[in-house]
Amino acid sequence: MAIERTISIIKPDAVAKNVIGEIYSRFEKAGLTVVASKMKQLSQADAEGFYAVHKERPFFNDLVSFMTSGPVMIQVLEGENAVLKNRELMGATNPSEADAGTIRADFAQSIDENAVHGSDSLENANIETEYFFAKEELCPRLR
Ligand code: UDP
Repeated sequence: MAIERTISIIKPDAVAKNVIGEIYSRFEKAGLTVVASKMKQLSQADAEGFYAVHKERPFFNDLVSFMTSGPVMIQVLEGENAVLKNRELMGATNPSEADAGTIRADFAQSIDENAVHGSDSLENANIETEYFFAKEELCPRLR
C-alpha cells in the first residue's frame, strides 16, 4: 500500500473543547504519524483562500466566520492510505450521519461546526500542505 500524506485540521470548536490530544491519539492508534503541526489563528484571507472551492456555496461566509472564530490545529499526517484513513476516522460531514466512534460523531455538534477537516484526495492533500507548510517544516520519521 502507498505511503501518503494528508492534511488534517482540528477546527475551532474542537480546539475550544480541549480534545486535541484525544484526536491525535486516534490518528496514532490508526497508524498515522504526525510529520508537521502548527496551531494558528486563521485570518479571513487564510480561511477564504483555503475554502475558495466553496466560495459560491450559501454556507461560505458562515464557514469563514467559524474557521476564524478561534485557533485551529493543523497537521500533516503520514501513513498507508493516509487520505482515506483520515476521512474514515473523521466520519461524515454531518455528525448526525457519522458512524459511531468517528471523530465527528464524538466531538462535532452540527454540519457546519464539525470538529475536523481532512483532505479529500491526494491531489488536494498536496495543495493544502503547500498552503500551510513550507517544505522544511515537514519532518520525515524514521521507520
Ligand atoms: N459545510 C457547512 N454546511 C454545509 C456543508 C458544509 O457549513 O451544508 C462546511 C463544513 O464545515 C464542512 C466544510 O463546509 O466540513 C466543507 O464541506 P465539504 O462538503 O467539503 O465536507 P468535508 O470534506 O469537510 O466533509
